[in-house]
Amino acid sequence: MVTLELSGVGATPRAGIGTVVWHRGTTDLPEPPDPKTVDVDEQLAAFEAARERAREQLADERERARERVGDDEAEIFDAHRAFVDDPEITGGVEAAIENGLPAPHAVRQAFEDPIARLEGLEGSTAERADDLRDVRDRLLRILTGGDRTDLGDLPEGSILLAERLAPSDTARLDPDAVAGFATVFGGRTSHAAIFARSLGIPAVVGVGDELAQVGEGREVLVDGDDGVVVVDPDDAARERLGGAATAVTRDRVATTDGRAVEVAANVGTLAELDGAVEQGADGIGLFRTEFLFLDRDSPPDEDEQYDAYVEAASAFPGDRVVVRTLDVGGDKPIPYVDAPGETNPFLGERGIRRSLGPDADLFETQLRALLRAAAAVDELSVMFPLVARVEELDAALSRVEAVAEELADEGVDRAIPELGVMIETPGSAFVAEELAARAEFLSIGTNDLAQYVMAASRENARVADLHDPLHPPVLRAIRRTVEAGHEGDAWVGMCGEMAGDPDLTELLVGLGLDELSMSAVTVPDVKARVAECDAENARELAERALSATTRDEVLSILEE
Ligand code: PEP
Ligand code: MG
Repeated sequence: MVTLELSGVGATPRAGIGTVVWHRGTTDLPEPPDPKTVDVDEQLAAFEAARERAREQLADERERARERVGDDEAEIFDAHRAFVDDPEITGGVEAAIENGLPAPHAVRQAFEDPIARLEGLEGSTAERADDLRDVRDRLLRILTGGDRTDLGDLPEGSILLAERLAPSDTARLDPDAVAGFATVFGGRTSHAAIFARSLGIPAVVGVGDELAQVGEGREVLVDGDDGVVVVDPDDAARERLGGAATAVTRDRVATTDGRAVEVAANVGTLAELDGAVEQGADGIGLFRTEFLFLDRDSPPDEDEQYDAYVEAASAFPGDRVVVRTLDVGGDKPIPYVDAPGETNPFLGERGIRRSLGPDADLFETQLRALLRAAAAVDELSVMFPLVARVEELDAALSRVEAVAEELADEGVDRAIPELGVMIETPGSAFVAEELAARAEFLSIGTNDLAQYVMAASRENARVADLHDPLHPPVLRAIRRTVEAGHEGDAWVGMCGEMAGDPDLTELLVGLGLDELSMSAVTVPDVKARVAECDAENARELAERALSATTRDEVLSILEE
């Protein structure tokens, strides 16, 4: 058997080997067969049965939504039901089947025009295109069995291949069973990749269409270090599985001339806490709480959240644990949060915008849980995501004050935690002075900061080169944030993926960061690099990098 190597973007710096299981998306159908071989009656019957099944599913979901959120919200299911029975659409599907297309292909084709028509309209009517897409995908899932791969129950030694994975998909993976995954699309800082990294699952993303040719059941090696997927690996390729791991240290680290740098872990779930402790993290620099809200039918209530925050803090007694308030939107939609389909979700209602707007109730519940947890544990810190304006931080801080008063009136134990703000928009980097005057710390989220400074989606492998924090504009935004933070007596950390790249540790120390927070797997390497570097040399390196005009120049300065 000939070994085949495909390259993509390494997402978790580990390698794993196993057997391919495909998680098929709904619209990536195989080529349709010769029309003459299609049994028209059978396909018409399959379509009819799929519609019946869709009606049943919609009725069940409507009922659940009515109980949970009320009649108004449940109405969306009536709209979906109307699409299932829309004569224009069903007539289109039937005509396509009669012309020799199998039912799934006919569904995909017949929905195309109506979706495009709705997309071309203005305002909220355009959002109906999402509803129509949803109905199409539901029918396709029923027809193709596309929802039959149970991601939470994959056989041990699986290598999961998919066109793309949503964060809620990766959240369901069992790291003991999944030996690795690879996707056709996606970038290194897409949330699916970040989640894989925090679970320590070897992963390569953005491999491109060639991945689609790798068949179910093949043996595949995923090397997330080099960003390579090897099909039918030979002995030479298997050597990628070796590699000595850096020794773990639980001690805090400092540069050779004594500058302490905190090296913390990013987590999304409580299940990742053990890994963070095992890898010797000094604390948690980013707890992405949205993962508590994914993959379920309703939000966790105040007590459940309180327990989660206390558990996180208790895993690191005496160390700082930074909890980020809910950051929904972008590539992290939550099914039961009433968010409109957005043309440009990364530029729409995300993070603090939702917490101060449509998700104000969720925000209040979360703050109540956090303030109660802050009273129960040593070192809880809270930060707000996607702030772009000073007013947003002011509004969030007032919400904290109001919730503290509310709890006091109820006689409930509470404390105001250390409060910080994420710097992940150009807006926040430009007003970092004012933010630092109000907050106790700033934490730079380079995944979003690079995306917004460079106008390059973190999800799109085609602009992966642009979405790179080593571009001078991003480096300069980092520098100004660190300086503004320190002038305002705020400590400044970094919790974007840049912080976890050991090859950049010296640069980041030189830029003046006080804390670096990353997926637990990279903590030992970054600690080792901090301990090797001299703060003065690092500062000179950073100065040189900051004076570079292009990313290539920055790279050659780092390589020297
Ligand atoms: C970031 O944007 O860098 C960040 C840490 O937040 P997230 O990746 O969750 O958007
Ligand atoms: Mg972010």
